[in-house]
Amino acid sequence: MKIKFWGVRGSIATPGESTTRYGGNTSCTELHLDDDNLLILDAGTGIRNLGNALAERNGRVKAYILITHPHWDHIQGFPFFKPAFVEGNEITIIGPEARGVTLAELIAEQMNKIYFPVKLSELQARINFMPLKEDTVKVFDAKVTSFFVNHPGFTLGYRISYGGKSLAYISDNEPYTRETASLFSNGEPDVLKLFENYDGDPNKRVIDAIRGADVLIHDSTYTPEQYADHIGWGHSHYLHTLKVAAEAGVKKLFLFHYDPVMDDDSLDEVMDRCRKEMKRQNYGFTLEAAKEGKEFEF
Ligand SMILES: [Zn+2]
Repeated sequence: MKIKFWGVRGSIATPGESTTRYGGNTSCTELHLDDDNLLILDAGTGIRNLGNALAERNGRVKAYILITHPHWDHIQGFPFFKPAFVEGNEITIIGPEARGVTLAELIAEQMNKIYFPVKLSELQARINFMPLKEDTVKVFDAKVTSFFVNHPGFTLGYRISYGGKSLAYISDNEPYTRETASLFSNGEPDVLKLFENYDGDPNKRVIDAIRGADVLIHDSTYTPEQYADHIGWGHSHYLHTLKVAAEAGVKKLFLFHYDPVMDDDSLDEVMDRCRKEMKRQNYGFTLEAAKEGKEFEF
């Protein structure tokens, strides 16, 4: 498998001089199982550049886009994804539905003529929808397992297994403790119940789903100090991210989905603090920060 990051930011795109090294586009990661089989993890603003790169390669595009949830930073780039405008291409969007809103409606509504000049039904590529809850499905020759994470609405994490390797992708996820559970007021009650009813540490629900993965890409929105003011917003601080990676026994962790206030220098400092923590705790995995343009093969 080969991944390439096209957008690593959470919430809103943050272009400008202070974010050039890590990147300012919102969530989008390209995943090639092999040369022909393309999966795309989320359709934040980063998907625009990916689409342009695919258009330059000039072949027919058959791809699956795995959406974690329909917040803007995960779908807003889709209307600018060039391959969707080309006849003969086929794009299948996989993702959760909201209560009372289908997956197709979630994508179509942001292309309602009030917000965007081209409607979903006017795209030339064939667009399919595959709504998902917690399940395991086949995508090309990969096994894709989805599981709910602790984030407002129905938000999925994914584990993609192929050729004896696996990638876990959790873009948005907050530590769940029974003491702070009352503060998750934006959470979907059905999802919160799954955490509440999990035996022992509720975070094990996510950790068990990604156990032993070769690569984990995980929400690392805040510092622990910032998190103290953002409990219930649905995101992790880096100490929790490191702990999830260690307890799940993954081989490699990419920090991901940075808060818009985190400029390049702040993220350098986060990496320094993470390396110190890993030494202190004797964590065994390798650590990198996701950066726009970074590729990794495993
Ligand atoms: Zn997000």
